[in-house]
Amino acid sequence: MDSSGKENCRVREVECRSVLNKSGLADYAINCYAGCEHGCVYCYARFATRFSHPGEPWGSFVDVKANAPQVLAREVKRKRLGRVFLSSVCDGWQPGEAQYGLTRQCLEMLLRYRFPVSILTKNALAERDFDLLTSSKDKVEFGVTITTLDESLRQLVEPQSSPSVERLRVLQEAGRLGIRTYAFLGPLMPGLSDSDENVAQLLEAVKDAGIDYCYVDRLNPRFGVWPSLKGMLQKRFPHLVEVYRKLLYDVGAREEYSVRLIQSINALARRQGLDDKIVLCF
Ligand code: SF4
Repeated sequence: MDSSGKENCRVREVECRSVLNKSGLADYAINCYAGCEHGCVYCYARFATRFSHPGEPWGSFVDVKANAPQVLAREVKRKRLGRVFLSSVCDGWQPGEAQYGLTRQCLEMLLRYRFPVSILTKNALAERDFDLLTSSKDKVEFGVTITTLDESLRQLVEPQSSPSVERLRVLQEAGRLGIRTYAFLGPLMPGLSDSDENVAQLLEAVKDAGIDYCYVDRLNPRFGVWPSLKGMLQKRFPHLVEVYRKLLYDVGAREEYSVRLIQSINALARRQGLDDKIVLCF
């Protein structure tokens, strides 16, 4: 059981040798946890623990890098300044962070040493750290991922994350405090959250939250995603199993789907007056 009382999540404390690591998403990424309690069914980050936790279901384990702040304290003094993404292969504000506070300690240190920081989370716990962000507004941006506004679908695909309405609330609060904000809409789930109606609702919600800009992404074939999705689809949406298989593994079908989705997103963004704020990831 984890610190928040969630059963079936095995938490163990480990030591890390480095924490400020190079990343394709920014100059660096920091992950104070290996594994993620949120357990998103489509999570692309599961590849990161394929050797340390082979065969263990994603979302059922978290390694807590208990010495991350001490390691970072050394690294900020010897590594070149650069933008840091929090976090790339876990959610830095997953439930255990309420107890461990490692992401907060690392964030504080990064800002003290003037590293620019991009945050992306699915947990309203991040609001706890807005005091740090407001004191370094020129160096930070804060984003939340929103996949769907349908709470029952959210519970199914992102079981231990905060409800989307909570994420939208903290996003709006960050903007109100003068922090640069963005939303990450995705991955849009074929047949579940990618209809024009769903996308229009998502765009309207993030517009109302006052975002500065917004990424939109489709579902992509990444390590371990298909077995996870297939299990969920077989149980809850069996009619979509073949649809997903085709979109993930048939390049032509995926491209055709993508072209249609891009056209829809662009048209809907224009209607919302958001066309200059949308960044497509595909
Ligand atoms: S919050 Fe992010 S890292 Fe965590 S399970 Fe979900 S997609 Fe993966």
